[in-house]
Amino acid sequence: MSFSPSTDERGAMRRDLSDEVQYLKGIGPQGATLLAKLGISTVWDLLRHMPRRYEDRTKFRLIAELQPGEFATIRAKVIGVENSQSRQRRMNITKVTMSDDTGSIHLVFFQQPYLLRQFQKWSTLRTELIVYGLVKEGFNWGVLEMERAEWEEASDNPDSLSSNRIVPIYPLTEGLTQKRLRVAVDCALKKYVGMIQEILPAEVVRQKRLLNPADAYGNIHFPENEGMRCAARERLVFEEFFLLQLSLARKRLKYTSDHPGIRFSISESKLMEDLKRIAPFDLTNAQLRAVREIAADVTGGTAMNRLLQGDVGSGKTMVALAAMLMAMENGYQSAIMAPTEILAQQHAIVFQRMLDSCGITVDLTIGSLPAKLKEDVRNRIRGGVTNIAVGTHALIQEGIQFHKLGMVVIDEQHRFGVLQRQALHQKGESPHILVMTATPIPRTLTMTLYGDLDVSVISELPPGRKPIKTHWKRKIQAESVYKSASQFIEHGRQVYVVCPLVEDSEKMQAQAATRLEEELKATMFSRYRVGLLHGQMRSDDKDSVMRDFKDRRLDVLVATTVIEVGIDVPNATVMIIVDADRFGLSQLHQLRGRVGRGTHSSYCILLADPKTDDGVARMKVMTETNDGFRIAEEDLNLRGPGEFFGTKQSGMPEFRFGNLLTDKEIMEEAKRMAFDLIHTDPNLELVEHAGLKSEIKRNSQAFELMHVS
Ligand code: ADP
Ligand code: MG
Repeated sequence: MSFSPSTDERGAMRRDLSDEVQYLKGIGPQGATLLAKLGISTVWDLLRHMPRRYEDRTKFRLIAELQPGEFATIRAKVIGVENSQSRQRRMNITKVTMSDDTGSIHLVFFQQPYLLRQFQKWSTLRTELIVYGLVKEGFNWGVLEMERAEWEEASDNPDSLSSNRIVPIYPLTEGLTQKRLRVAVDCALKKYVGMIQEILPAEVVRQKRLLNPADAYGNIHFPENEGMRCAARERLVFEEFFLLQLSLARKRLKYTSDHPGIRFSISESKLMEDLKRIAPFDLTNAQLRAVREIAADVTGGTAMNRLLQGDVGSGKTMVALAAMLMAMENGYQSAIMAPTEILAQQHAIVFQRMLDSCGITVDLTIGSLPAKLKEDVRNRIRGGVTNIAVGTHALIQEGIQFHKLGMVVIDEQHRFGVLQRQALHQKGESPHILVMTATPIPRTLTMTLYGDLDVSVISELPPGRKPIKTHWKRKIQAESVYKSASQFIEHGRQVYVVCPLVEDSEKMQAQAATRLEEELKATMFSRYRVGLLHGQMRSDDKDSVMRDFKDRRLDVLVATTVIEVGIDVPNATVMIIVDADRFGLSQLHQLRGRVGRGTHSSYCILLADPKTDDGVARMKVMTETNDGFRIAEEDLNLRGPGEFFGTKQSGMPEFRFGNLLTDKEIMEEAKRMAFDLIHTDPNLELVEHAGLKSEIKRNSQAFELMHVS
């Protein structure tokens, strides 16, 4: 928000929104120290301190009709007050008797003996008060009690801040009261609200029928009625989202103008022919759509920056391959990075198998290769012999030079940091970038977090895939679960057992896995070959266990979540997840994706005794659907955006007004309008956009975290 310049030539009191709060009514230096704890130092901060909730105190209740357990507002006379001492805990109790025409109630206060005098005065005068509080069952004679009461003298004064109206309840800090904060906010509104400038363009305000800033801030604190409260909130949420989307739109624009991009030329028919020859199957419609979207990007003259989302097993690899073929046809190299060596290896093997016969050179470069071999590969990449370089982070970290890099594919993007993506960028002129993720991200989050990327979604699985059957069993049934698993082993299948999530440390996680492995070896699976995989193992040990499992030298693999992003073992058809309720939904779904990769029916058994309703709900969702997007939405609903992503690393912005779960539509609208606006005025040079421009500048630091490539 831009501040209005305070120009008072006669040198009278200059006022602006950056004034310190201590000069507001009832605050002073002591109050300012308290407010500072809430992150409030200026008037502007205070005006943007949102009520946590509201109480509708416009309706008075009759004492006779109050029910224990409810919050209520009454209007009644003080008729008596006494202090007493509770015997057990030596606590002072102040009990105020109040009555209206229908009955009496006791207000009860603990450890505030000083209240006595105040109420005594009111009691003699039979003063009428408006009281709001929690109604409780009383101790004697069936008289109800009220705790946590807030009160004020009844008057017909329409300016009353705490009664007769919808009252704001703010987040507080110790030593600060609701009442004092309300007075200060009211004072700030009266003196300053007119200085809040409208930064939204008139056209946007008109189209969206938004309240003006003064009404919005006035009504978010002291709503005239419920309708105005909603309108006020909508305006503030819209503004917040709009600013975010504007900066994303600008970032996107800047990206495309800074990265002119290599313009490929593509013959669709040739590409489709090549794919047909290479792939042992037909691409699904969803895959084809993604391929076309990519083709449109790379022929468009700007650098592609696309996110490809698709559930585990949806066939993202083929889409990546298509993108890399486009580069190759145009004489460019491609790089594909995977989060682990074993995955990189798997990609390399798959590609080599498919591409060798077509004369396409695929080279693997990973840390664990012998030095000599690594050097060879490095030379081949530099010399341009390599068409497709497959690797891990090593691809960008170990000084590898490309001859002509045109396409970069990043697999399982959620495992990579932003910086790594940036580093990769600098390897080529402005290579096209395709980021792939199997973590379905609900659309609102995509819009927020990756608003500057284009998004393709593979929404269907290849045909013939048998859905994974998921069952939830109580832990008491564990033995029979392991027994049925043995049946599958007898029939030649393989089994994963995922050990419970231990939050404390990697080391303890490893210990837990080891314990489970030993236990299963000694009991249920004593006749089978059982392997162990956890994060504390050396990377070549991990690889060799994985390979043993893949090559069927093991029947059972006991593992931690390290297998979440793992290799393809189509013969593994059963997964047992122990204490499944400790995992997040998306993670369970990801884990479950390890099975169901072959032609046999696959099963996922969740062994769990969830202790909360929430836990039960999660188990149910897992058994009911295989749809990764639905699961992601549920996960987001159950855990909230912060947890869903692990806020800090994800760069997920925290919103002051908006809520990503409930304000989806506002976000959509804000995005659309922001992108339109940037389209017509890319640099916000028009006069009517000056306010926006300076606000974005001010905010740029807050949004910086969100930077994506
Ligand atoms: P993910 O999206 O999880 O990376 P993959 O690309 O590894 O999925 O594909 C999973 C499996 O599905 C692979 O074995 C792959 O060969 C196979 N596959 C991919 N596309 C198709 C298709 N159109 N028809 C049949 N099988 C396919
Ligand atoms: Mg994959």
